[in-house]
Amino acid sequence: MDVVNPATEEVIAQVPSAAVSDLDAAVAAARAALDGPWGKLSARERGRLVRRLGERLLDRVDEVARLETLHNGKPISESRHIEVPAAAECFEYYGGWSDKVMGETIPVKGNYLTYTLREPVGVVAAIVPWNFPLLLASWKVAPALACGNTVIIKPASQTPLTALALGDIAIDAGLPPGVLNVLTGPGAELGQAIVEHPGIDKIAFTGDTSTGKGIMRGAAGTLKRITLELGGKSPNIVLADADIEAAIRGATIGIFYGKGEVCAAGSRLLVDRSIQSEFIDKLAARTRKMTAGDPMDPKTRFGALSSRKQLETVLGYIDSGKREGATLVAGGARTDIGTGKGYFVQPTVFTDVRPEMKIAREEIFGPVLASIEFSDLDEAIARANDSQYGLAAGVWTRDIKKAHYVARKLQAGTVWINTYNVYDTAAPFGGYKQSGFGREMSAHALEHYTQVKSVWVDLNI
Ligand code: NAD
Repeated sequence: MDVVNPATEEVIAQVPSAAVSDLDAAVAAARAALDGPWGKLSARERGRLVRRLGERLLDRVDEVARLETLHNGKPISESRHIEVPAAAECFEYYGGWSDKVMGETIPVKGNYLTYTLREPVGVVAAIVPWNFPLLLASWKVAPALACGNTVIIKPASQTPLTALALGDIAIDAGLPPGVLNVLTGPGAELGQAIVEHPGIDKIAFTGDTSTGKGIMRGAAGTLKRITLELGGKSPNIVLADADIEAAIRGATIGIFYGKGEVCAAGSRLLVDRSIQSEFIDKLAARTRKMTAGDPMDPKTRFGALSSRKQLETVLGYIDSGKREGATLVAGGARTDIGTGKGYFVQPTVFTDVRPEMKIAREEIFGPVLASIEFSDLDEAIARANDSQYGLAAGVWTRDIKKAHYVARKLQAGTVWINTYNVYDTAAPFGGYKQSGFGREMSAHALEHYTQVKSVWVDLNI
């Protein structure tokens, strides 16, 4: 399969399209490692190897960041200083958990010793999208390995290079053969075969909500465990008493970070009517100053969309916003960086958006902000929750009571108060409603990569 640099439209690499026989081989290798060298390691030794994987990744941060930018189009500053270090930190964090995943003794009735073991689930498949290819793989691989599972990664077709690099780094770090496998290939065939494979015990998936529904159906045949991190249409609410300058910065970071190809992007801006016009004027002025640049330039803050398909999707939504009568106040067109090539689109802001418009309801997954007015707190909350999704939300206010009131009312897996798009490996992340289920990162993720066994011992003499 060709891998295309979205900033130049050039083919930069070719990767194999794995056949079902390759999948069978990967499953056999993963299973053999589980029953062999990997399963025999002590928890502490396993944790050390997981941490070493993170250290080796950091040793190669420049090379891996370059690959991430080349196949995804995101600015090199984001790959180099945010994504790759965050992925390395994820291995450091979960490596520390390995020898702290414990069972319990239970005071049952009768004369028994009853205790639990927390055992690995087995062979885990990580199916990963193209927006944060390395980080979203790491969120799955690190806890899976830490808990003693073996893993098969299937990266998105557009962005396979950093998963392959991670496989190479795993060899470097001394992981036994078969513990971490990488298979490149198209979702519809290889992904589907993974979902249905009887030798795979769990699917950890991040991607589109409709693909997630298909995975749930496909996994039913073998009753695989699944966790799904799906789409979003996250509301970012600005109350009248907010620190306006901070809220404007937060609204732009919320939607334009990662070119808006961020599942938690604050793509619906809800602004109190009394400050709306001033807020939007300032936001639009700030947005117009953000220009796309060469993703490989360290000064660039806004890169290329990940693929031609994504460019077409985003431009289609911009057209739909115009057709449905929203007011365009910034951006709204394809752009380029002087080369005449690349899938660049201007950071775009629409105002006068009504909640029933497509740009207010559907996940665009691009740098397009839809601004909607509200007149009181309850209306803001109702509008925020009026979505099939529930991944994240933000609220901007100086009133501490209102902030916590709104946080409790919002149907979302993450709520940011006076900030947006901050993450830490120690904090759980995942969806409410059709944004999926299960939590990644934090101690909560460990539950998805272990299963509990009760052991009863008769103590009657
Ligand atoms: P996608 O669903 O098209 O693809 C995701 C992965 O699934 C890819 O590896 C793809 O090859 C594979 N796949 C495709 N069809 C498959 C099938 N039938 N069976 C098995 N695997 C299959 O999603 P995408 O377009 O790559 O990613 C964008 C989506 O991901 C957005 O909707 C975004 O919101 C979501 N996302 C969610 C989170 C989160 O944490 N909730 C994070 C990032 C992205």
